[in-house]
Amino acid sequence: MNYNFNNTLIDFHLHSFFSADSDESPENICKNAIDKGLSGICFTDHIDFDMVNEDNSRLFLFDPDEYFNTLLKLKELFKGSLDINIGVETGLEPDKRDRLNDFVNNHPFDFVIGSSHLINGIDPYYPKYFEGKTKKEALDEYFLSIITNLNTLSNFDVYGHLDYIIRYLPESMVDSGTKRYSVIDYIDYIDEILKKLINSGKGIEVNTCGYRAGLNNPNPDFDIIKRYKELGGEIITIGSDAHNAKDVGFMIKETKDILKKLGVNYITYFNNRKAEFMKI
Ligand SMILES: [Zn+2]
Ligand SMILES: [Zn+2]
Repeated sequence: MNYNFNNTLIDFHLHSFFSADSDESPENICKNAIDKGLSGICFTDHIDFDMVNEDNSRLFLFDPDEYFNTLLKLKELFKGSLDINIGVETGLEPDKRDRLNDFVNNHPFDFVIGSSHLINGIDPYYPKYFEGKTKKEALDEYFLSIITNLNTLSNFDVYGHLDYIIRYLPESMVDSGTKRYSVIDYIDYIDEILKKLINSGKGIEVNTCGYRAGLNNPNPDFDIIKRYKELGGEIITIGSDAHNAKDVGFMIKETKDILKKLGVNYITYFNNRKAEFMKI
């Protein structure tokens, strides 16, 4: 499909009731996207093998046949007013490699985000992750686990919300000032991560959920996005990570404007796992 997205707004990270942490109907997401003036969206519901939601009631899995049936109908329904792509956000863990590969390869996804949601088996969303660690230890472990993931797993198009652990830092670990941590303190890990992504032809996503979590930036931090560019990276997608209809498109325009000022000239989107570039 040849979308003409130039200078339009797109949101390439969205969750619906196919994700264990969302109750939103995919149709509402589409309607809100149109109301907000978006021209294209990509559903990226969660697959995290063996992970359960907060009240232990649901697994982070969906039935791919039901998923494609539902979303293909919406694609048809909204044809001409909204372009709808079908993707997935996979939770990367080294021991899940074969299951993730099977899942991704056996279905015609347009786009695959690879994200770290569990760090050595623990979700940093919960305070337990930080217990008994200094800030440096907690962040070192986080960045090192990403390097391990990248050494083991490669079946994804962009790395999701790099540095999002910052959203969950306990108050006692937050730096004073406008930022919660300094990218420069972790630059060796970050450079290694970015170089691995660039060398394997993968991108990063800019995830605007950081703003909803009270940060002054998306995830990753703008300093990391600048570094990715400096090192030669060119694949940057943008997404709100909305889990309900009202957050669809959240801060996409504002973030795109900042990216442009930082010298980012193209936003990437994916059709059939193939990168296409939209001028901004
Ligand atoms: Zn995620
Ligand atoms: Zn997400």
